[in-house]
Amino acid sequence: LRGVVALDGPSGTGKSSVARRLAAILGARYLDTGAMYRAVTLAVLRAGVDPLDTERVISIARACRLELGTDPQHATTTLDGQDVGTEIRGADVTLAVSPVSAVREVRELLVAEQRRIIAEADGIVVEGRDIGTVVSPDADLKVYLTASAEARAQRRTRQDTAAGRVVTVDATLADVQRRDTYDSTRAVSPLRPADDAVEVDTTSLDLVGTVDALLDLVDE
Ligand code: C5P
Repeated sequence: LRGVVALDGPSGTGKSSVARRLAAILGARYLDTGAMYRAVTLAVLRAGVDPLDTERVISIARACRLELGTDPQHATTTLDGQDVGTEIRGADVTLAVSPVSAVREVRELLVAEQRRIIAEADGIVVEGRDIGTVVSPDADLKVYLTASAEARAQRRTRQDTAAGRVVTVDATLADVQRRDTYDSTRAVSPLRPADDAVEVDTTSLDLVGTVDALLDLVDE
């Protein structure tokens, strides 16, 4: 793959696993833009700043140093020189990430960095919420993954449990729905499919089935 595959959709649709696997099969790079919003959120929390304090959130976003490793077999997220790949998946960050990512200046900073990484790569699969609509409107392929809220909550619960976090499906379903509402109703770059995105419903597809469906689209 030489171009850009944009993979958007709400949480729990299998985006990350699908994007990594697709990139590995295609010999492409992989960019997890959600990890960037999560890392800025972690920096905000570490500084003891209220995620709703927009001015201070913007200063933290400007000051912190993010580095994203784009190898799909070994994607890394570094904040101020420290690997934060595990910490950014924790409940505190997940709870605070939506307000931080709703701040226009934070998005401008991160979108500029995302475009720089995409321009440098010779073929890349990029996952997020606004890749097809804002970050890379000229992407060669745009896919919007969907799945029922229940299927997404179950997937997220399995992932969290496998990572050693103690969660219930009910609490995860509430979290998934809260973030969907926040992400799709915010003023800046709300979550929505691009007009030319292909929608793929993953409710009854597993990882291999979803990747196969996307490989067919890449081949077309
Ligand atoms: O994909 P992930 O669940 O890690 O994303 C965490 C949060 O980051 C999302 O709920 C959303 O608020 C934000 N995000 C975003 N735009 C992106 C990627 C993530 O606003 N491109």
